[in-house]
Amino acid sequence: MTDTSCTSYDPANHALSAAEARARMVGEVTPITGREFVAVRSALGRVLAADIIAPHDVPAHDNSAMDGYAVRFDSLAAEGETRLTVVGTAFAGNAFSGLVGKGQAVRIMTGAVLPAGADTVVVQEVTLSEGNEVIIPAGQRAGQNTRRAGEDLARGSVALPAGKRIGPAELGLIASLGVAELAVYRRLRVAFFSTGDELASLGNPLAPGQVYDSNRYTLHGLLQRFGAEIIDMGVVPDRPEALEATLLEASQVADAIITTGGVSVGEADFIKEILDKLGEVRFWKLNIKPGRPMAFGKVGNAWLFGLPGNPVAVMVSYTQFALDALHRMAGMDPLPMRPLLTVAAGNAIKKQPGRREYLRGKVAAFDGKFEVKTVGNQGSGVLRSMSEANCFVVLPEDCAGVATGDPVTVELFEGLL
Ligand code: AMP
Ligand code: MG
Repeated sequence: MTDTSCTSYDPANHALSAAEARARMVGEVTPITGREFVAVRSALGRVLAADIIAPHDVPAHDNSAMDGYAVRFDSLAAEGETRLTVVGTAFAGNAFSGLVGKGQAVRIMTGAVLPAGADTVVVQEVTLSEGNEVIIPAGQRAGQNTRRAGEDLARGSVALPAGKRIGPAELGLIASLGVAELAVYRRLRVAFFSTGDELASLGNPLAPGQVYDSNRYTLHGLLQRFGAEIIDMGVVPDRPEALEATLLEASQVADAIITTGGVSVGEADFIKEILDKLGEVRFWKLNIKPGRPMAFGKVGNAWLFGLPGNPVAVMVSYTQFALDALHRMAGMDPLPMRPLLTVAAGNAIKKQPGRREYLRGKVAAFDGKFEVKTVGNQGSGVLRSMSEANCFVVLPEDCAGVATGDPVTVELFEGLL
């Protein structure tokens, strides 16, 4: 597990490193404060706005972890078998109300409350039943096969902390506490639009020189997965008035604005003026590939993430930077660490030292050993590489090429996209 990100600048052009850019963005944005109450069933993907405190012990009672016989450990002979009298049965949801005395056993089912007096459960499979007696072999351990009250969660303890995103396990955990409704942050409102005179919208034929606007669909998917409230503002042509009006409108309805295109050297100047007027936005040259140009800052009260136009670069800069900042804005702790793994390269990769590169790769097991191969055309406009890949191969700044078999760092898409 290595993240060999480097924080130095490229002396030639003072490009920001990926680590530095991420740290700056995450450091600047602040969590939203609005919250609402939702039923457990509607809470998947939402972010807890307050700690959930266990109102009772989980499990609430000492109970059996197996089907078998509940006994007092001190009934059992130190050596050889023990014959006990079976005095009743304890079912899950239907306890045995008596006491288990010395020399006695109670037939018990998984999840049934451990009867008073009993402290140990002997699994049914090792016992022998004879009339109303049961024969227990030697070698049992005190307390075995029991679950203690509060062993999962003690009453009064923090079952889930504020800032936790609720997944399937959390839904079950919350339900296990008997909690039916919970406080979550409101959804983050994210407006986005594509910029470019060359962009055609779906449903229209392509004129010469046009491309279909794919970024808006990619972003739609990414933001839906993220759990944002999505505000799709369409395609904006490369005209100052149109950009200004759309940015202004977006800043009034959204917590964050994501744009694609228009931040490369030739184009940035063009919207720089508008952004200077509307807020405070910095244009960055990042020391990465793809995704070198990026804008970040504030328009009114909304944070702006100006991503490059190339479709793969959009996905790299979204997952590597915007996502971290959005996490924090949505009330979650920043992503603690990216899901990085080290695997052997299945093919050689050419690279010059200098920039951090995010190649599209596919991790798979070959003869039981995992390796990663780069997939398809690695051009920053070729979305097919993202579709065929299941990870980024992350080559750090100082990497000067990879030979087959070399260990490389990969970042799995699972959980990221
Ligand atoms: P830009 O960053 O605006 O210079 O765009 C870089 C490249 O990405 C150009 O080839 C654009 O045509 C392409 N591009 C920009 N925006 C989009 C989009 N929304 N969908 C597909 N391609 C795009
Ligand atoms: Mg453009």
